[in-house]
Amino acid sequence: MREKWQERFAESSDCLKSARRQQTVVPVLDLEIGGGEFVTMAGPCSVETEFQLMATANHVRRAGARILRGGAFKPRSSPYSFQGLGLEGLKMLARARQESGLAIVTEVMSEENVPMVAEYADILQIGSRNMENYALLEAAARSGRPVLLKRGMVATVAEWLRSAQLILDNGNPNVILCERGIRTFETAMRNTFDVAAIALLKQVSHLPVIADPSHAAGHSELVPSLARIAVAAGADGLLVEVHPNPAKAWSDGEQSLDFAAFDEMMADLDPWLALRNLGASRRKTAQARSLVAVG
Ligand code: PEP
Ligand code: MN
Repeated sequence: MREKWQERFAESSDCLKSARRQQTVVPVLDLEIGGGEFVTMAGPCSVETEFQLMATANHVRRAGARILRGGAFKPRSSPYSFQGLGLEGLKMLARARQESGLAIVTEVMSEENVPMVAEYADILQIGSRNMENYALLEAAARSGRPVLLKRGMVATVAEWLRSAQLILDNGNPNVILCERGIRTFETAMRNTFDVAAIALLKQVSHLPVIADPSHAAGHSELVPSLARIAVAAGADGLLVEVHPNPAKAWSDGEQSLDFAAFDEMMADLDPWLALRNLGASRRKTAQARSLVAVG
């Protein structure tokens, strides 16, 4: 790594690659994030109903996702919007894990809820709005669960890495960085997808980096392109919003893929993953599907 990056990110030196540490692999149930497999996390923005969650879990699993996402605690832009089902939503997620075998990633918004969310989730998501909530970061780190740290919507890469460093400092090595777009002067997209940040982090940091094309784009039709770009930039996985009926979603319907669009996106990613010699299990799924189609 060039020295200038070491200087720029000096406050987060434990996040940086070194001779001793080239890549962190985060274990989640039977999976590894940051290892040889590209891991797709998919599911609704919010947990709404048992039917919505189970149908989505079963569908995304068949399409190659390994982790189910879904918010039970929602940081909504408006205080009058749906705020999430809370504990009831966490219980639904746990049932979906039991039924589908998928691991669960879900957001924790407050320090006092960390023990409760950690009881049900396999990965704790720290949302963009909380990236610099240090009390929450410390509590999440100490839970012992892997932490998916979203980039703050106005955070620089250095600020983002400082938050990651705080999690490492609190004894938790299992940090996954998630680029979800930043605020710029552009308003056509919900955010501006900072793909260069992914490329940079893959060069300078040993932490796994995943991309959230849904919140970056804000429009479902752009999500597959951003997902491909994330693969090309070297991301270790994706976090994607999928809903059985996006038009009726209680949150983020505009950016959610329906089942058919998710299937198409996953199939279209295969050749891009193959270029990186990644996603073997995913390619096998695709081959199996084409054999069935031929047979
Ligand atoms: C989410 O993942 O649904 C979410 C609220 O994301 P962010 O914190 O990136 O806005
Ligand atoms: Mn969302």
